[in-house]
Formats: sequence, C-alpha cells, structure tokens
Amino acid sequence: MIMRLIDTHCHIYSQEFDADRAEMIGRAENEGIKMMLMPAIDSSTNEAMFRVEKDYPGRCISMMGLHPCSVKETLRDELLIVQKNFEERKFIAVGETGLDFYWDLSYVEQQKQAFQQQIEWALQYDIPVVIHSRNSIDACIEMISQNQKGKLKGVLHCFSGSLEQAKKIIDLDFYLGIGGVLTFKKSGLDAVVEQLDLNNIILETDAPYLAPVPFRGKRNECSYLKFVAEKLAEIKKMPVDEVANITTANAEKLFQLKN
Ligand SMILES: [Zn+2]
Ligand SMILES: [Zn+2]
Repeated sequence: MIMRLIDTHCHIYSQEFDADRAEMIGRAENEGIKMMLMPAIDSSTNEAMFRVEKDYPGRCISMMGLHPCSVKETLRDELLIVQKNFEERKFIAVGETGLDFYWDLSYVEQQKQAFQQQIEWALQYDIPVVIHSRNSIDACIEMISQNQKGKLKGVLHCFSGSLEQAKKIIDLDFYLGIGGVLTFKKSGLDAVVEQLDLNNIILETDAPYLAPVPFRGKRNECSYLKFVAEKLAEIKKMPVDEVANITTANAEKLFQLKN
C-alpha cells in the first residue's frame, strides 16, 4: 500500500546525497512521499539547496533561515543574507532556527538574537517558523511564548521531550515534528506520543541524520519516513494510511501547501 506522505524536514541537498540523490528521491516517491521540505542551514549550503529545488520543482521546496549551530562571529553577515533572500522571493517557512545548547555554549545570547529575528520574519511574511532545539526545549518554549500573540505558527522539529513540554508547545499553537527517534528503544517518545492528538503532529526524517530503526546509525533518507508512520500507527492503534493522511493534512495546513 502506498501512503500519502510529506517529509517536512530533510537536508537532501547535503553532500551525503551527492552520489545518488536522484535515486534517493525516486525511492521516496515510490513510498508515496510527494513533497520534501528543506530547511536551510547557512550561506554555505544555500546554493546546493536552491539547486535541488530547481531540479525538482514542486517536489523539493526550500525554507530560508540560519541554523543555531551556524551562529558564530559571522552572525550579522549571515542574517543579512537571510534577509536579502526573503526580500527576493517567497519561502514556505523560516528555518531552521532555534537554540542548540549541546555543542557549544559560547554563543547562547547570539543564538537567542538570531532566533528572535527569525521569529519576526515569520510574523512579517506570515509563514511558519521551523524550530531546532537541543538541550534547549524549555528555552525554546519560552521564546515562542514571549512572541505568541495569536499570529505565530510553526513546528518544534525533531521533538523528543516530555509530555508536559509537548502540551506546552501544543498550547502555543505549534506542531510537533516527529521523526526517527520515535522508533528508538528507550527514547520514551512512544509513551509521550501515545497521549497526544495526531492533529498536532507532522512527520519528518531530518535526513541524512537520525535514521529510524531498522536503519539506526546509517545514513537516513526520505523513503524511511514510512518507518516513522508505521511506528506511529502501531502506537496509536490506527491504520497507517489514516496516520499518513492526518499528518500530511497537518503539514499541508501549516505550510500552506496545495493538496
Ligand atoms: Zn534541527
Ligand atoms: Zn534539520
């Protein structure tokens, strides 16, 4: 059975796919993935992202933003490049932005500044903001909360937090992006997701990272999204095509995609 799916977060312009990108996208489409949404990282990867978007029109679609791990002393210049891109054309979302307190704590204040600026662009252009968090969910919730005056929309991608954090994010009118971590033993995410309404969930791979079981530890690719959908169906005790339909409709609504 072919599902109707959208991979809402995949870095398929990454060098990891340079050798077999067309085949990889072909495999994804064979699994029913009709659209692949690509979060930006920084100015060093934009060109590759735009090239993939041009090669697969209407199928691979770019966001625009600055990843928190790319926030360094070059912050000002990087944000000017993001701003220029927003002035030149439309994007489906701002991102990925957010806070990453795992790798490096030397630019926490700058990460917050960059995040705040990108939230403001999301509001200005009326598009969703795609948020990355690592060791920083509560700080991300705080930032969303401060800016949520009824108009801000988006997703906390690769969510792996607690039920309490999930509920706060949903109360702020945000979606939870669920990916391969759901299939990891001992992640605890299955018990959290069991308590959540599917209407608050969208699916993602974050390829080439975080491959689901049975490919954990290997390069992730968009076709593996089906393993996330199947796990979610198992947890929710629902048919997998129903899980696919609901989460895909959520993605279409959030990113204002035509179905
Ligand atoms: Zn991320
Ligand atoms: Zn990402």
